[in-house]
Amino acid sequence: MADYSYRSNRQPKSKSGSRIFLFLVLLVIIAALGIFSFTQYLAIQSLQSDLELFRENLNQVETENQQLRQRYDDIIEENEKLREENHMLRSSTIINHGNRDTNKVAITIDDGAGPELINQTLAHLRDYDVKATFFPMGSWVERYPEIWQQAIEDGHELGNHTYNHAFLTTISEDRVREELTHWQEAVDEALGYNYKTLFFRPPGMDGFTSINSNKTKQLQEIIANKGMFPILWDIELVYALRNESYTTARVTEHVLANARGGSIVLLHFTHIDIAALPAILSGLRNRGLEPCSLSELLLVDFKL
Ligand SMILES: [Zn+2]
Repeated sequence: MADYSYRSNRQPKSKSGSRIFLFLVLLVIIAALGIFSFTQYLAIQSLQSDLELFRENLNQVETENQQLRQRYDDIIEENEKLREENHMLRSSTIINHGNRDTNKVAITIDDGAGPELINQTLAHLRDYDVKATFFPMGSWVERYPEIWQQAIEDGHELGNHTYNHAFLTTISEDRVREELTHWQEAVDEALGYNYKTLFFRPPGMDGFTSINSNKTKQLQEIIANKGMFPILWDIELVYALRNESYTTARVTEHVLANARGGSIVLLHFTHIDIAALPAILSGLRNRGLEPCSLSELLLVDFKL
């Protein structure tokens, strides 16, 4: 009896205990699975929203990209138009002077000389704090590179005047191109970098005396293709004083009597012209005019 009661009391108790245990284990597993699935669900949800965001960003980037591409195409087209206009402008413009509404007068000095005269020129310009434009032949730049380096260091600028002072109507178009390129090479070599100039001055004005001739148009086309404008002048001395005695006093007087706002003065690297430079610079200032380089005259105020 005692045994039976022991067994009958023990066995059901042990069975329901293990059931409860199993039930609890199951419950824990289900709960764990539930929690696991829920976190998975949350992770997927967050991934999905990340993906959505990413897709939106991608769309936005693609739209921006398309807009940029369109802008790039527009700029290229605009650039092409400007290039054409520029070329037309260069090949149809011959500059004799700048804007007449300014008080600026460009000082341009042509050809070449030895270091002594160039240094003297630079010293005069330094004394008056004036920047000028020089048109040396390439052969002179090649011969004395240091003084032209000094000129650039002082803030002056160089324009193309051919390598050999070639008279352009007397040589073939190919030779004209060679003369221009050779000048560029000599200047690049002397300065140690690719020097850019917009200015070309025809030696002896050759080819630019009757500006509507076919020859002039051909030359202008070549010069424009090299990215330059032909620069003439409205005040020069060689022809103006050809029937007079050519003295420093006369040179100074002629320049001061004729210069006005926008003028381009043509001097040469000669002892007489360079000796006149201080009186020309101070005389211009006394008349309310401001001597300057071609860039300062043409690229700031010149209205085409
Ligand atoms: Zn010359």
